[in-house]
Amino acid sequence: MSRPDLVLLHPPSVYDFRRELKLYGPISEVVPSTPIFEMYPFGFATIAGYLERQGYRARIVNLGLRMIRSPSFDAERFIASLHPGAFGIGLHWLCHAHGALETAKLVKRHHPDLPLIMGGFSASYYHEELVEYPEVDYVLRGDSTEEPLAQLLACLREGREADDVPNLTWRDQQGRIRVNPLSHVPETVDIRPIDQAFMVRTVLRDRDLTSNMPFRDWLEFPMGSGISCRGCTHNCITCGGSAYAFNHFLGRDKTAFRPPEALAEDVRNIRGFGKGFLIIVGDIRQGGMDYARRFLNAIAVLREPITLELFTPASEGFLRQVAEALPNFSLEISLESHDPIVRRAFGKHYSNEAVEKTIEAAFGAGCKRLDIYFMIGLPKQTRQSVRDTVAYCGELLNGFGEHGRLHPFISPLAPFLDPGSLAFEEPERHGYRIFHRTLEEHRRALLHPSWKYVLNYETEWMTREDIVLSSYEASLELNRLKARHGLMSPDEVAQTEERTTKALELIKLLDDLGEIDEETLQELKPQMEEINSIVWRPRNDWELGLGLGKWGLLRKGYFLLNQGSIAFLSQLRTVMGGRRVSQRQVEGTASPSGGQE
Ligand code: SF4
Repeated sequence: MSRPDLVLLHPPSVYDFRRELKLYGPISEVVPSTPIFEMYPFGFATIAGYLERQGYRARIVNLGLRMIRSPSFDAERFIASLHPGAFGIGLHWLCHAHGALETAKLVKRHHPDLPLIMGGFSASYYHEELVEYPEVDYVLRGDSTEEPLAQLLACLREGREADDVPNLTWRDQQGRIRVNPLSHVPETVDIRPIDQAFMVRTVLRDRDLTSNMPFRDWLEFPMGSGISCRGCTHNCITCGGSAYAFNHFLGRDKTAFRPPEALAEDVRNIRGFGKGFLIIVGDIRQGGMDYARRFLNAIAVLREPITLELFTPASEGFLRQVAEALPNFSLEISLESHDPIVRRAFGKHYSNEAVEKTIEAAFGAGCKRLDIYFMIGLPKQTRQSVRDTVAYCGELLNGFGEHGRLHPFISPLAPFLDPGSLAFEEPERHGYRIFHRTLEEHRRALLHPSWKYVLNYETEWMTREDIVLSSYEASLELNRLKARHGLMSPDEVAQTEERTTKALELIKLLDDLGEIDEETLQELKPQMEEINSIVWRPRNDWELGLGLGKWGLLRKGYFLLNQGSIAFLSQLRTVMGGRRVSQRQVEGTASPSGGQE
């Protein structure tokens, strides 16, 4: 088998989390990952797919997941055994600062001559600091790095300097740091997303299932997403994906949309796999009501389950149109706080009444499930305000929770306020205090044994201590409410209460101890491991009931067989195509980036 041109490594949040003793907080309970954040960014899949279509072979390795799944998996030996043309490491979310940089060190230790490329939102933000690390050769900036990466691989293959590669920060052969213009910012989203079929084909080709899986329980709960846009039209102040952040740090002054008909086609392709969780990322109304209507017309009628995001309350008319096109629809909305003053300070300008009308209209139109999210760590929010938010969840459940379709969630803004967000860039103006600013400070903070000190912020209204205590308090109270409404079992609630009590005791102990030596940490190891949920994270309740169903195994078997033959044929085509590409390169007529999409 030919060697890959690029191995894309997704690191764990902290390397090596199996040895570092840390108390993780309830920081990942509303996402599919464990606190190691083993879910790789969506960009990995679009990059791998794009490169394949340009004639390159890219292999995804979810290093974090492999380390979670097998305590004996030796990540360093594994990296040493790989022999690609180049390595790529994702630093999209800042919570991977430690894992990404340590993984980079391992790569360079074993492959000092191979180019190492980093990318992602956090890498873009910290590109100048990042390229100062001796392990890092190239940093690709921006939200659309598929094409610049193909151009960089072409340079590497041909031994050329990367002067013309857009969006690249790099060290040239003289060791000078160069910052190429951030000029590749496409106005529409033309890159096709990767469907599960592509995933299965690469699994079969690389004979490596775990490395390709986006997160731990993916096989059991396959999850797909249709991406409606790059950028956002809103400006929530803590969000690194806001219009402000895109404009100031990713070179995007206008949200780029996937054409609505193409989005509908993407969704149908992804849906082919079965009835796993499928979400359209980005409110489809962001591109205007005409965009939303075109999408709904193009998708109508899709009877499989699908979840839409709402960034603002929606009208009854719109929800009826959604129901006609997608009779099995669910919704997600982030309200942040019950208090409109807090919500406004966060950057969202709508009333509770408008949200309640939306919930009523959604259920009236047949919405199968509505998840509503609240957050801790917001401007103008106090501990009492968080308690009131949980009480409001109770009111919502009393009013709309009758059929078990309404699911409220609350979680802390953790571990980091996003660099590039308004709150990070102008903290005083929004009532924030920032503790870690640089990449290196974040890398070091991730090693702290208590998640309280990993947090990179506090607010005028809540200290880090308040945020931590409030998070546990709110989660306990919300769980009790959920149990009363049949959304959690008494056993689950009892388990969480026990863990929370122990976590609070341990946080206090860590505080009392102050500086903690290795020996003390080792003594605390059993307690920490019992509390951390890396191995046994309870299921998010959106996962429940979304398995493959009664025909799941048969469907999966048929699917694997079918994709196996496609993989074989595509392998054959690659071999034949590869010969053609080589011939053209010898003739000097080929531009690997100029291939067909
Ligand atoms: S949190 Fe706000 S700014 Fe960020 S992506 Fe969502 S709607 Fe846009």
